[in-house]
Order: sequence, then structure tokens, then C-alpha cells
Amino acid sequence: MTREATLIAGDGIGPEITEATLLVLDALGAKFDWDEQYGGMSAVEKAGTPLPNATLDSIRRTKLALKGPLTTPVGGGYRSVNVALRQEFELYANVRPTKTIVPGGRYDKVDLVIIRENTEGLYVGLDHTFKVGDDPKAVAQTMSVMTREGCRRIVRFAFEYAKQHGRKKVTIVHKANILKATSGLFLETARMIAPEYAGVIAADDKIVDNAAMQLVINPAQFDVIVTTNLFGDILSDEASGLVGGLGLAPGANIGTKAAIFEAVHGSAPDIAGRGIANPSAQMLAAAMMLDHLGELDAAARLRRALETVIVKDNVRTRDLGGTAATAEFARTVARRV
Ligand code: NAD
Repeated sequence: MTREATLIAGDGIGPEITEATLLVLDALGAKFDWDEQYGGMSAVEKAGTPLPNATLDSIRRTKLALKGPLTTPVGGGYRSVNVALRQEFELYANVRPTKTIVPGGRYDKVDLVIIRENTEGLYVGLDHTFKVGDDPKAVAQTMSVMTREGCRRIVRFAFEYAKQHGRKKVTIVHKANILKATSGLFLETARMIAPEYAGVIAADDKIVDNAAMQLVINPAQFDVIVTTNLFGDILSDEASGLVGGLGLAPGANIGTKAAIFEAVHGSAPDIAGRGIANPSAQMLAAAMMLDHLGELDAAARLRRALETVIVKDNVRTRDLGGTAATAEFARTVARRV
């Protein structure tokens, strides 16, 4: 059956890694009717706005998207389109798996999943500066908002995810010692839900700074981590660094109204247009999309092919110490598929 899905190639290296991913999906025989739309900087250039209505309408219809990275100006400029999409479609769960693929690295047994709350906390957009005297930015304020229901649904999602995927433990990561209201509510709610899974899924909790250190000392102790928005954003980049970097880190944004699949990394302007980006993260995001659609066999074939190319064929992009260009890597994975 052909499935309609929205495709946003994105900015920077987005079009290169998206083209590579489509080649592999094609080789898999995965049938998608892509509705190509724009977002981010490329949408500003084409439609005068970073998030055109046509893009939102398309996702509203298909409820499914494969998205490349979108550039967000640092400091000033328009607000993040990624954050806007997550809020618009209530994509409350950001699922970011990290697994050792490349052998002989610093850690051989990393296999963890970070479940990040994706719509609340410090990312709600209550971000202001205040004028005092002549200084228009004398004071800056960002507010974090957490709701009991938001905490409940992400913690429940994490435990259900653990159950469905044969995981053994959920670690609740927080900063409730300092952020007593917001992080405190998250921890309190998580501790109320965890006992419902006693005997099936173990639970523990860690303060975020300790969790960040423990990730480097002994990442194999982690199985599933559930945490709030900003901590999940930072810890998932850290986790990807344990196993070879952002080029291997996929993510899924799952919500009540749609699901959007993407790499964890950004638009990598430093290497854009050079044909050297690693498309693995975007390919692994496509595998998560196939899992989501119940196409488990196709998803497993994609992951196997990718691992074989990196480990056995030793065809690797530069970020993994190889010399392969994006297109060459993609052709090799497509052949293995
Ligand atoms: P980045 O993830 O784009 O790049 C960080 C470093 O990792 C760079 O050195 C880059 O070359 C490298 N890298 C990233 N992906 C790679 C790949 N596939 N292959 C090889 N190397 C790769 O982070 P940044 O530079 O901090 O951000 C650039 C832009 O991306 C910003 O505008 C930011 O807002 C945006 N961003 C978007 C998303 C998203 O769309 N989901 C996520 C993160 C950042």
C-alpha cells in the first residue's frame, strides 16, 4: 500500500541527506507518496515565511512527515520552526535512541533511549527582555512551564515504550533539588507512576548533572531515560557523542495529531553543499518511521544494511573516519538493502 507522507528536505545538509535516504527507501521497496513542502530558511527564501501554511496543511492531512534539519537563527530572528511544529501537532514525545554501531570506539555496549518531553519546560516560548533606563535588554527572563498532565503523559509514554521494546529500566532525570516547582512536579509525578510498572520495568532517578557525568563514565548502566525538554535536548547530543557523533543519531517526534521523524543533528552549515555529510541519522529516522507504520521487517532490513556497510564494508563518511561521500555511502547502503 502506498502511504502519503509529507517530506521536508530542510536547510543546509538537509537536501543531501534526504536525497540519500529516499534512494535507500526506494531500494527497500517502501512505498511513499511524498508531498514535498518547505520549512526554515529555504521556506523564507521561497515563501517569505519559515513555516508556510501549505506545510502545516500537508502534515495535518498526512499526519506523517520525514523532515530534514531546519536552520534557526541564533539570538534574534524568527522562532524555531521545530519547536512550532512540536507545539502545533502536540508532538509531546521525542524518542532518541543511541546505540553502538561502529566497533572499537570508546564504548562498545551503548544501547539506550532518551525520551524527552517535547512541548513544555523552557521551550514554551515565554522569553522576554525588559528595558531599564537606556538599556532595552537590561533584564532577560525565560519561563519554564510544566503541567501535571504533561508530566504524566511523557512518563507513561516512557514506561509503555520500555514495556513494548523489551527494556528493563527507566531512569527519571531531573533537577528537582534546585527547580523545585517545575522539575519537582516532574519527579513527583514520575515517582507516582513508576510503581505501576513494578516487577516489569525497574525505575530509578538521577539529578541531571550527575546523569551527564554517569553517561560518560558508564553509559551501559542506562536503558531508557525520561526527562524534561532542555535536559533531553542536551543529553541526547551528549549520548550521540559516545557512539560516533550526531551523524548516527535519529529521532522521532510522536504526538496526538501527527508523527515527525528527523535526525537529531542540525543543518550543519559548516559542511553544507560539499556532499560529505553522513546521511545515517536521517536513514535511521526513516527506519523509525517504518517501525511506526508497522513495517518492522523493512525497518530491520534498513538498519542491518546500514550496519553492514559501516562495519563490514568499511564504507564510512568523514565524521566516522572514512572518505566516502554522501552519495557513495547511500548507493552502498541501497545495494546492501
Ligand atoms: P549541527 O547539528 O548542525 O552541527 C554540529 C556539528 O556536527 C557540526 O560540526 C556539523 O558539521 C556536525 N554534523 C551534524 N550533522 C552531521 C552529519 N549528518 N554528518 C557529519 N557531520 C555532522 O548543530 P549546530 O551547528 O549547532 O546548528 C546548526 C543549525 O541547525 C542551527 O540553526 C540550529 O538551530 C539548527 N538545528 C536544527 C535542528 C533540527 O532541525 N531538528 C536540530 C539542531 C540544530
